[in-house]
Amino acid sequence: MRDDGRQTVRYPQGNVLLRNLARDFPVITHGQGIHLFDARGKRYLDASAGALVASVGHGNREVVDRIHEQLLRVAYVNGTHFTTEVTEALASRLCTLAPPGLERAAFLGSGSEAVEAAVKFARQLWVERGQPQRTKVIARVPGYHGNTLYALSLSGRPHYKTFFGPLLSEVITTPAPYPYRSGLEDYARDGAEHYARLLEETLRREGPDTIAAFIAEPVIGSSAGASPPPPGYFERVSALCREYGILTIADEVMCGCGRTGRFFASELFHFQPDLLVLGKGISGGYAPLSALLVKQAHVEEMRQGSGGFMHAQTYLQAPAMTAAGLAVLDYFERYDLVSHAASVGAHFQRKLREVLSPLPFVGSVQGVGLLAGVELVEDTHSRRPFPRTRKVVERLLAKLLERGLVLWSNTGHADGVHGDLLMLGPPLIITEAEVDELVDTLSRGIRQFFQEES
Ligand code: PMP
Repeated sequence: MRDDGRQTVRYPQGNVLLRNLARDFPVITHGQGIHLFDARGKRYLDASAGALVASVGHGNREVVDRIHEQLLRVAYVNGTHFTTEVTEALASRLCTLAPPGLERAAFLGSGSEAVEAAVKFARQLWVERGQPQRTKVIARVPGYHGNTLYALSLSGRPHYKTFFGPLLSEVITTPAPYPYRSGLEDYARDGAEHYARLLEETLRREGPDTIAAFIAEPVIGSSAGASPPPPGYFERVSALCREYGILTIADEVMCGCGRTGRFFASELFHFQPDLLVLGKGISGGYAPLSALLVKQAHVEEMRQGSGGFMHAQTYLQAPAMTAAGLAVLDYFERYDLVSHAASVGAHFQRKLREVLSPLPFVGSVQGVGLLAGVELVEDTHSRRPFPRTRKVVERLLAKLLERGLVLWSNTGHADGVHGDLLMLGPPLIITEAEVDELVDTLSRGIRQFFQEES
């Protein structure tokens, strides 16, 4: 009760605001490895590593100890003035791993912030170069780059934008390669040509010298169910961008940090971006952390111009955050986690296709490494999605939760873009036997769900 005698207003499940109140999600008390445990002691397999975050699993003492040590040493310094050993070490390690030319790193708190910083960097560079007319950024649909206002503007998820129209910026869009819904007879053969042509038409229509940057997820994450590009796609679009002097930004917030079986997904698809953004798995969830990698040559241009990149935030490269990144990277190296993700990931992809593809209402199973998407549709011939009013994926997720499987989903076609999507991406430490358990539980859950529906 409040002092004034009125009843205190509570949300149905407590006072935490941003949580899915429509579903009765359990309170998680702890996690260990690939599992989470709720207040009643029930165990769940974390099949999506939260939101594709928990790369090194839960309760990872080696990582926690390292963060603890750093917190005792120094938790925070003003990152625009000071640097720290831990931040320098993380930057140097990431730049050693990175595609050629990416030799400088900044650390921020979320994928959205790093995307915003990437766009600001590109924009500043053009102004410094005397081309202030380069104001536009080309993004792809479907696509997702975050939920802050500019990152949301870049995101090809129309329904996320419903309430925010006047606050969002205008962004130029081009279709993203989406195998299941490309309409192409031979996606692998014709996809690169098809989507590169669409991009070139957009560039010409807009005027290439008005465009600052092109942003793309090497593997499209939550908005298209882990869609990989067709062979040759990034070679083609990069060549176009180079021809017109447009900077390229790889958004690897979801697909980076080992998820595809390579540390950088760009490498897998022969994409050599000018800027690269990481998030999620970089800290495994042990601290909010994202990274922006840029070219030394561009930093030098800015240094000789205005003096440097005009960007700062309170938690810029805070040691409490970068310590998590460094500890996770060390863990990756000690256990050769990227090679492990490549081999278990190959098994995961095979097993998913073998077990799920024959199931009714499964339209597509796709992905790379330990990142996969399953698209559920009402009619697999026409690829017609379920009516949104049936809330298929939400209800299926609730059933899977009862079976001890925690999954992330995307409630699809409110966007008019796709059907109900299941997003899969377990912690990279998962074993083949655990992959089998995951896929078998999922398949039994899907089967039973649709049996009960009919
Ligand atoms: N880019 C991509 C590709 C993402 O998947 C996400 C998060 N799902 C973001 C950016 C935004 O990251 P964050 O939620 O940490 O702001």
